[in-house]
Formats: sequence, structure tokens, C-alpha cells
Amino acid sequence: MNSKKLGVLGGGQLGRMLVEAASRLNISVTILDNPVDSPAKQIQSTSTHIHGDFKDPLKIQELAQNVDVLTIEIEHVEVEILEKLFSEKSVEIHPHPFTIRIIQDKFLQKTHLSQNEIPVVDFMNITDRESLNIAVEKFGYPIMLKSKILAYDGRGNYVINSDDEITNALKTLGNFKIPLYVERWTPFVKELAVMVIRSVDGVIKSYPVVETVHKENICHLVIAPAQVDGVILSRAKEIAEKSIQTLKGAGIFGVEMFLMKNGHVYVNEIAPRPHNSGHYTIEACETSQYENHIRSILNMPLGSTSLKVPAAAMINVLGKSENIQETLGPCVEALTTPGATIHLYGKKECRKGRKMGHITIVADSISQLYKRINPILNIDDENSI
Ligand code: ATP
Ligand code: MG
Ligand code: MG
Repeated sequence: MNSKKLGVLGGGQLGRMLVEAASRLNISVTILDNPVDSPAKQIQSTSTHIHGDFKDPLKIQELAQNVDVLTIEIEHVEVEILEKLFSEKSVEIHPHPFTIRIIQDKFLQKTHLSQNEIPVVDFMNITDRESLNIAVEKFGYPIMLKSKILAYDGRGNYVINSDDEITNALKTLGNFKIPLYVERWTPFVKELAVMVIRSVDGVIKSYPVVETVHKENICHLVIAPAQVDGVILSRAKEIAEKSIQTLKGAGIFGVEMFLMKNGHVYVNEIAPRPHNSGHYTIEACETSQYENHIRSILNMPLGSTSLKVPAAAMINVLGKSENIQETLGPCVEALTTPGATIHLYGKKECRKGRKMGHITIVADSISQLYKRINPILNIDDENSI
């Protein structure tokens, strides 16, 4: 289908699902990541993967020499070497290193979005305890303290409710060893997300608006399409597409949003790669987020982003403890659930809160969807510790 070779920085579950989609199209993928048996490396043995850190410039350079197009499955990569490789035109890189640099720093990302008139919640830079006190005076409690970099699954966030909690909050987030900023607490009624795909020529298409439900800061459940009225759906779609228009490069992007009681929609953050809220597209859309990412960065025609079923859900299989059997309870239930597909990521160690897999459930209607997912969600709750 395409003779270009693809290189991916990062070999986790997103890389694994990218490799799955690539292998159907006979596209060779080389993965750069430390573990020899990382989830993505396990499933394509025809190319020689590189064992090393996606933050190591030499390893990134080695990957670049072996492929035609570089992409990422995680934004926390070494971006300076990507900028250098890009300016030397030695390899194609998607998304553009400019985009990766902006997104990997949440404060820079929010500044960029607000400068481009994308609605975001109030935020403020802080450099020490005094500036945090000023932010508290301005925004009041609770206040959301966030790490600017290296954040995922809510690690890097701390909700401060009172003066007494400040010391512990700062200690937990490293006492400014990692740069911090704050956001106004946002009492959203729902969280929404949209996957947006952009071609090399800048053509944008979006997937349906979905609802994401978080448990302890980690995405737990996704419902597609979002059960909100049409005005909100078009607003969310428009804001998501406009956000991606401000960035550079091809590929898939996940746009996380907050929906307020008064109908306002704010962008929470953008992921410049396949996203957890888009896993459902594998079974529920005409072209998955993974296949469309590959098509876009290899300059192939984009596939349709439409739902091919009336309703779908995605349930994350999150580690309950180190006990994998307990964690797999929802998957055992899903084996006998109509419309369910189980994805396990091949991670060797199970830990509490770790994303071990996910289950997608498709249905003919929203009510049938809930009938199908409820028993799986109940097992999940029973297994909660
Ligand atoms: P991800 O795994 O999505 O990359 P992350 O570590 O980058 O997560 P955020 O997306 O910033 O973290 O926040 C995680 C969750 O915390 C959000 O999905 C939302 O539920 C909640 N949250 C984030 N910011 C705010 C805020 N300002 N007010 C209220 N809740 C918030
Ligand atoms: Mg994030
Ligand atoms: Mg997030």
C-alpha cells in the first residue's frame, strides 16, 4: 500500500494498536522504546526494533536513519533532536516538532490556545509559594495545581482545598523541581472529547463527540456518541477542529474538553497522537483513529470518521492491584457480552491504576448499550479495592 517505512517513538499500547493497523496495510513499523518486549514490539517482529529511550537523541537519530517517517505515541519525547532532524530534512516528522513542543508543556499549550482564542479555563504561572498564594487569592479554593510537563493519568495534578494542604501539595509535585502552574477549579457537568485527523495538506476531519468518565483522574469509560444536545455537539466539534487548526503537521489529535452547566465548552488539553478516548473507533467507526493516523502521515487518502454502529462504549481495564486475575474480571464478563471486543496490551506487570487493556462494546441503541455495559461495570466495581 505504501513503501515508506514508519518509525514510532514509544512502544506502549497506543504504539501496539498503531502496529496492528499498519500490519493490515503491509506497512513496516520500527519501534523505539526501552523494554525489549514492550507492548508494540511484541506484535510485529518483521522489522528490527530499537531498544533505547525515546528521550535519547542518539537513539532517535538511529531510528530516523532507518525509516522515512517518524511519529510519536507519547508526547514526552526529546523534542530538540526532532527539531534538528526536521530542519535538516533528513526524515519526515508528524506531528510537527513545533506541535510536540507546545503540547508537552501544559502551560505553554494553554497559553498558545488562549492566544488563538480557544476557550480554556483561567490559569496562571507560579514560580514559588508566594505566587501560589496570589493565585489562591485570585481563583479561591479549591484550586488545581498542575505540573507543566511529564503529566499523564492525573499524575502531576493536585487539588488544593485549603491553606493547610499547600505544603503537602507542593511536596507531592516536587516543590518546583518540575515547573508548576495553577488552573481555576472547573465544576464541569461532563467531560467531552473529539478525535481530529489532519492530512499533510492541512485538511481536517473529526470523529464524533464522545463523553469521557474519569475515576481518580484516569479515564474509565467512554460513551459514543456523547449524550448531549445537538448545539453542544456542534460547539464541541467546532472548538476541537479550531484548536487543531492552530497546530502544525499531520496526524491524529485527541481534544479533551469540559462541558459546563451553562453550555460553555472549554478545552482541557490536547494529545498530539492517538488517544484513549478514541479506542472505540477500532470497532465503531468506518476507519479507526490508528489507521487514519497512518494514512495521514503517509499522505494517503483519509478514511471516513463516521460511526458505523448507533452506539458504542469503551471501558478501560485498569489494574486493581498486582493481581492480574482480579483485574481481568471485566474481560471474563465481556467474553459473553454481545458486541464486546477485548483488547489486552501484553504488559508484563499489573499495578493498581495501570492501563492493562480495554473493552469496546457496540450496540443498536443507547439503551441496549447500557444493558450490555452495566454487568461489566458492576464486576469492575465489585473488584474495586
Ligand atoms: P491524561 O491522562 O488525560 O493526559 P493528565 O495527567 O494530563 O491526564 P488532566 O487531563 O490535566 O491530566 O486532568 C485529569 C482530569 O482531572 C481531567 O480529565 C478532569 O477530570 C480533572 N481536571 C483537570 N483539570 C481540572 C480543573 N481545572 N478543574 C476541575 N477538574 C479538572
Ligand atoms: Mg495529559
Ligand atoms: Mg487529560
